[in-house]
Amino acid sequence: MKPNAQPTASHFINGAPVEDPAGAPLDVIYPATGEVIARLHEATPALIEEALESAGAAQREWAAVPGRERGRILIRAAEIIRARNRDLSRIETLDTGKPLTETLVADAASGADALEYFGGLAASITGEQIPLGGGPGGDFAYTLREPLGVCVGIGAWNYPTQIACWKAAPALACGNAMVFKPSETTPLGALKLAEILHEAGLPAGVFNVVQGAGDVGAVLVRDPRVAKISLTGSVPTGRKVYAMAAEGMKHVTMELGGKSPLIIFDDADLEDAVSAAILGNFYSSGQICSNGTRVFVQPAIKEAFLARLGERIKAGVVMGDPLDEATNFGPMVSEGQLRLALGYIHKGIEEGARLVTGGRRADRPGFFLEPTVFADVTDEMTIAREEIFGPVMSVLDFNDEAEVIARANASEYGLAGGVFTRDLSRAHRVVAALEAGTTWINTYNLTPVEMPFGGVKASGLGRENGRAAIEHYTQVKSVYVGMGGVDAPF
Ligand code: NAD
Repeated sequence: MKPNAQPTASHFINGAPVEDPAGAPLDVIYPATGEVIARLHEATPALIEEALESAGAAQREWAAVPGRERGRILIRAAEIIRARNRDLSRIETLDTGKPLTETLVADAASGADALEYFGGLAASITGEQIPLGGGPGGDFAYTLREPLGVCVGIGAWNYPTQIACWKAAPALACGNAMVFKPSETTPLGALKLAEILHEAGLPAGVFNVVQGAGDVGAVLVRDPRVAKISLTGSVPTGRKVYAMAAEGMKHVTMELGGKSPLIIFDDADLEDAVSAAILGNFYSSGQICSNGTRVFVQPAIKEAFLARLGERIKAGVVMGDPLDEATNFGPMVSEGQLRLALGYIHKGIEEGARLVTGGRRADRPGFFLEPTVFADVTDEMTIAREEIFGPVMSVLDFNDEAEVIARANASEYGLAGGVFTRDLSRAHRVVAALEAGTTWINTYNLTPVEMPFGGVKASGLGRENGRAAIEHYTQVKSVYVGMGGVDAPF
């Protein structure tokens, strides 16, 4: 039977679900079958206006709510999410095609972690006191850490619920309001988050969801009432949004794409290194921004690495219905993304890379692509330079540490990177030298909420998660307090 994922309404504005059928239709396609499972509508200009208006009005009152009460609401939302994890995970699976075995542990669950973490911090978002000399009773300064105002969140389609939570949680904890626009490919998860936040006690208007494609996003980004934009998306979109934000001198957080290196030295634990390469290339069918898609392997273990990787793919991949908990490898999100990835695979073959395994569309409905491994990849090949955002791993050879660092850094991207070695000093040296915002030693792609996450170079600006995120949703006001007389020249 065809799954049904029709939400109550397309948008969530000023505390309630809202529909306006005048907006262009937005079909939700289940990636495992290609069937339409819900029809929504894009936001009309009138709805965008309503969302921005209600966010502006609600923000002033929300900022006046004590931090511990704001935090309590976020923590209550985290509890509701955990209690409904299975239902929310099913929706995430229908929206994205990712297997339920993944969404049960990685999506709503990680969103709940963010709400809980920033909920816990909300009461301790404070400024500092700065003594200016003169002993007791002397001048001093203090700072106020203020919310920015109305923030706009714009999401990608690979982790729709997590992205919405990673933006909403710190924004709301700091006393901001948010208008969130999910990716037009995956509009469902953010609506659930909005419902749950309100059930937990969030005042109407503090978190709103409007649907639509890039044009709706651009209207939000340009609006003078908006103080900050947090975008998760590709580098080309990031450049456009950053430029629009600059016009209005707005704050930005940019979580963009990558082509991250995973460096495996010949003293690495082989089994763990293979596990990391699998996680960092095939989890979520490879549709993860921080994936280690350039796997650099030293010659002494290269053949053993490829052999073990091949065995584990052959024996371990269960491609199938994502709702079936036996499945551990799902489809790509859309026909378009699948075709893009296939185009890269053809380029890889054409440019002389050795196809070790996979490379074909699976013979079944939906957008399934076999896990694909290329070996003998060289730095100039297209598959080693461009973000594919699909289950395509490139294995490159390297000889020594200095060489691999230089080659790993020779990319416009700088999102993430990883190193596998038993040599502790080398591990720390290598990550210190990597031009990347997020790195791992002897593991890969773990992104706990306590740890700041983000990129350098073209991969982005600002950080999500950790205390660092607070800096990106607040601004500092300095207050100088004169305790004595005022000295003037005349
Ligand atoms: P995308 O850039 O096509 O779209 C991202 C979002 O931006 C969508 O909601 C889209 O509607 C919106 N958008 C597009 N044009 C816009 C415009 N002119 N103004 C305002 N909004 C606009 O990206 P995608 O295909 O949805 O997602 C895949 C990309 O996201 C990959 O490059 C991936 O690496 C990146 N990503 C990054 C992270 C991270 O945290 N760094 C996480 C997930 C995905």
